[in-house]
Formats: sequence, structure tokens, C-alpha cells
Amino acid sequence: MEKHVNISGDWIKGLIQKFIATSPLNTMQNEDGEPAWDTALVGFASGADPIWQQYKEYVGAFHWTPWEVFNQHCPEEPVGAGELTVISWVLPQRERVRKANRRARKYPSEEWARIRVYGEAFNVGMRRHVVKSLKEAGHAAIAPMLVPNWTIVKSQRFSYASSWSERHAAHAAGLGTFGLCDGLITARGKAMRAGSVVAKIDIEQTPRPYADHRAYCLFSADGTCGKCIDRCPAQAITAAGHDKEKCRQHLARSREYVEKTYKFEGYGCGLCQVGVPCESGIPVKAAREALERGELPPQPPPLA
Ligand code: SF4
Ligand code: SF4
Repeated sequence: MEKHVNISGDWIKGLIQKFIATSPLNTMQNEDGEPAWDTALVGFASGADPIWQQYKEYVGAFHWTPWEVFNQHCPEEPVGAGELTVISWVLPQRERVRKANRRARKYPSEEWARIRVYGEAFNVGMRRHVVKSLKEAGHAAIAPMLVPNWTIVKSQRFSYASSWSERHAAHAAGLGTFGLCDGLITARGKAMRAGSVVAKIDIEQTPRPYADHRAYCLFSADGTCGKCIDRCPAQAITAAGHDKEKCRQHLARSREYVEKTYKFEGYGCGLCQVGVPCESGIPVKAAREALERGELPPQPPPLA
């Protein structure tokens, strides 16, 4: 490692944007060689933010805090939680991909399935690139989704849950709130994929412009909408929330369809992420306008 080069939030945002613009991994692998992604939202959360401990208490003891996962994999760099920053990015689905999946009624469009496989391969490349670039600048970093002991466990409360969640990291980093279907509604909507890296760097935390972890969902805000319930071909979404097991089974069934119909090994669904008011923006008018004005609510209560 070189000696510590000072890293700023803008440096990281530039690194992420440049990778999107120049990496050969950014492809849907279709005939036209279209890019999978064109831009990213980026946020930062402190490793000392109490929200990580709240996740642990809410999701389960197996859910890592940034400090836990960093110290497991960078034992040669002893740190306190406050010396860590979680870098989180959101890759919004492009208009063409969203439009194609809006027409889907049971299984995903070819474009969506390609993004699920090749777009996520790019996202893996992004995690590796951010870690490598930070290391070259003298800062230890890890991508929690890529460590060998990242796992999915059965959870009494959630049917199953993982030791690190990109959507929860994005929520902590001020990038969005959860919808009825469990997707994360961001300023660019719910049709997106997310990634994150934990690094020993000091970057100012992105303020969370919401007081409630469901503030951007119309169903939570005023009991209206519920459009994602009708979009789900597996009846996995109800007024009570998202049935992960039904969703998982539908995703498993989609493999055969994708292979037979589109002739590549893939899968996906995401029907609840398109053709809904939260597809490409924040549908709750008051929350959207407050965000545009840069207003911050009082500190959110702990997750219950
Ligand atoms: S479709 Fe409506 S109810 Fe479902 S997550 Fe989006 S805003 Fe909430
Ligand atoms: S991803 Fe598909 S199966 Fe899962 S909740 Fe959304 S629409 Fe339903």
C-alpha cells in the first residue's frame, strides 16, 4: 500500500462514475452492446452510526455491523467503529430496461433478466474496483457482500435474512426508505441495484432526509397505492408486507423461463419495481418536495 492519500466524498463519487463510464464490464451483453448502467447515487454512513446496532437487534445477531465485518477481514488494521465509513451506491435501472419490464406479467423481460445477471456482474466489479482503488491509496477496505462468510440464514422474523444487506446499507447512507414490497425507494425510484464497501476512511456522513424507514412509500404514508400488490405474479405482497419465501420460489421458477425463452442462464422478476408510482422517483409528494428543498426531519426513532 502507498502512504495514505487523502480521500474525499467527491473522489469516491468520481471513482464510481468513471467506472460506470469506462469499465468493459458495464454491458448487458446483448447484440447492441448496450451499457447496463449510466449513473449512480452515492451516500456515506459512519461505522459508529447507532443504526447498525439497531439493524442487528431488529434483523438478528447474525447481521454484521461495519466494525464486525471489517475486523473479521482486516485484522491487521485494528479500528474503532468511528474510524470506518460505509460507502453505498445505488444503480438506477435505465428507462429502456424499466419500460421493457413494465410489459411483463409473469416472468421478467429479457432486458431485466440481463441486468439481473450481467448488471450485477458489473456491480461485483464495482465493489472490487472501489476496494482496490482505496487500498492503492493506502486505505484498508472490504466489500461485505464479497467476503467468503457472507451468508443467508433462516430467520424466524423474516423467513430468511443475510449477514449484510445492500439495501439496509443504502438506507443508512441516506439513499432511500423501504416500500411495502421491501424494495428501497430512492430519489431515482425503487427499480435499482445497490452496492457497498466498508473502508477505514473519514468521510462526512450523508444526512438521512427521512424520519421513518418507510417514509417514501404511499401505503405507509397515507394507506393508498398498494400497486406492487397487484403487480406481483406470485401473490408475495399483501397489505401485511412481503412474503420472502413466495418471492424466492417465483425467482427460482424464472430460471427455466429465462433459459428457454432468452437462451442464457439467468433469472429475475422485479415486476413489483416497475409500473408502480415508486418506479423512478419518490411518490410521496411532501417527502419528495422536502428532499428537493434539502430539508431534514428530526432524528428518526429506532426501528421497532
Ligand atoms: S407501489 Fe405503492 S405501496 Fe408499493 S412500495 Fe411503491 S409506493 Fe409503496
Ligand atoms: S420480485 Fe417478483 S415475486 Fe418477488 S415480490 Fe416482487 S413481483 Fe413478487
